[in-house]
Amino acid sequence: MRRVLIANRGEIAVRIIRACRELDLETVAVYSEADARALHVRLADEAVAIGPPPALRSYLNIPRLIQAAVDTGCDAVHPGYGFLSENPAFAQACEAAGITFVGPSSATLRLLGDKIAARELAARAGVPVVPGSTRPLASVEEACELARRIGYPVLLKALAGGGGRGIRLVRDEEALRRRWHLAAEEARAAFGSPELYVEKYLEHPRHIEVQVLADAHGNMVHLGERDCSLQRRRQKVLEECPSPALDEPMRRSLARAALRVMRAAGYRGAGTVEFLVTGDAYYFLEVNARIQVEHPVTEMVWGVDLVKEQLRVAAGERLRFTQADLRPRGWALEMRICAEDPDQDFLPCPGTIVAYRPPGGPGVRVDDGVYPGWTIPPHYDSLLAKLTVWGRDRQEAVARARRALHEFVVEGVRTTIPLHLRLLDDPVFARGEVSTAYLDRAADP
Ligand code: ADP
Ligand code: ADP
Ligand code: MG
Repeated sequence: MRRVLIANRGEIAVRIIRACRELDLETVAVYSEADARALHVRLADEAVAIGPPPALRSYLNIPRLIQAAVDTGCDAVHPGYGFLSENPAFAQACEAAGITFVGPSSATLRLLGDKIAARELAARAGVPVVPGSTRPLASVEEACELARRIGYPVLLKALAGGGGRGIRLVRDEEALRRRWHLAAEEARAAFGSPELYVEKYLEHPRHIEVQVLADAHGNMVHLGERDCSLQRRRQKVLEECPSPALDEPMRRSLARAALRVMRAAGYRGAGTVEFLVTGDAYYFLEVNARIQVEHPVTEMVWGVDLVKEQLRVAAGERLRFTQADLRPRGWALEMRICAEDPDQDFLPCPGTIVAYRPPGGPGVRVDDGVYPGWTIPPHYDSLLAKLTVWGRDRQEAVARARRALHEFVVEGVRTTIPLHLRLLDDPVFARGEVSTAYLDRAADP
């Protein structure tokens, strides 16, 4: 591996460029017309224009991206997260062009991208799954019958959904019948497939996920868990490592379950197994077959650079450590700083960043894709920076987070910094007791 095309934008494109530099790999950025002056374009060795927004015409344009990789002599493509990162057709197009896709095989992506197939795989591996569909629902009648069997409330989910979208809470049969067609239509529009499935709705679960790393030679390790229970509308807001809610036996069970799922999937690269946890029961949710937004908390606690390991594994190298070599240390928190207005129901607010001064000092890491004078385009997601802090224990991490948020200056656009400051002072958060429903309940009681 010599030269990597980064098929993404924003903070994650910058993050990948940094990993490549440290490994002495050359980098090629791609950009849409809206991103011509973006930070990732400035930082890469070379940059290629790939078309106008919206994403369908540029960052999701597979032939265009393959062409860009071929034209610039790239022998690998890193897809980041979102966009084409879990798209089996993209992985396959790379494979066909003789370009290394930094991620699992297209066959593994196809399997795990079908959320029901993934549930079946987990169940066969002996891992509990949330009660619900074992095949896509053929009709609203079938959905009603299943929902009666598992009991309301249920979630109606898009088979190909992601990013917390395409999920609807349904409390009774009347609501299920009423929402069925609209849900299918929306799934078709958003994810290209109208197929839906049903899952039992767990009332106050925690979202806990396990990071896994595997090479192409059969070696696989886990790097503990992340707790992503603080969510708004099923989207993660703040993540931590480790989870304040697990005892050691539960922690070990989750890690072992994650490894069983990933072995069954023939997984290669960095990937995450998501679970919902209530009391001492846990349920498999899905696999995210890519690097995740919140990977920095794991990196800080486990002392492993996950993006560099992804690149090494994709180049065919063996993992350089065994499970016994890996030891977690301390506590990390990540806060997603988004250009959204907390006072206006978190409405995205693109605009020009007039002043920007990220925090620094001990234990502070900022992953961002912006600079003073940058105009945030309206076409993409609103994440502008991730603030990750490390402390010897949770208390030090929280104090550091508060300190760093106070240092963080962003002028010109509203951000979620005030939300994070409120959260850090919340007694329920301080006790480590929030569930995935906590923030939504606090927002509209
Ligand atoms: P993470 O756990 O890494 O935060 P998310 O599920 O929140 O994972 O998704 C990360 C990013 O990928 C977000 O920007 C989200 O909008 C995007 N994303 C994930 N899956 C899809 C999908 N199927 N369609 C569109 N965007 C997606
Ligand atoms: P996505 O692919 O969009 O990330 P997930 O299935 O991972 O979809 O679910 C996203 C979030 O939705 C979870 O983190 C959780 O907060 C909530 N959720 C999903 N399934 C359930 C469920 N069965 N019961 C309660 N909450 C759920
Ligand atoms: Mg998920």
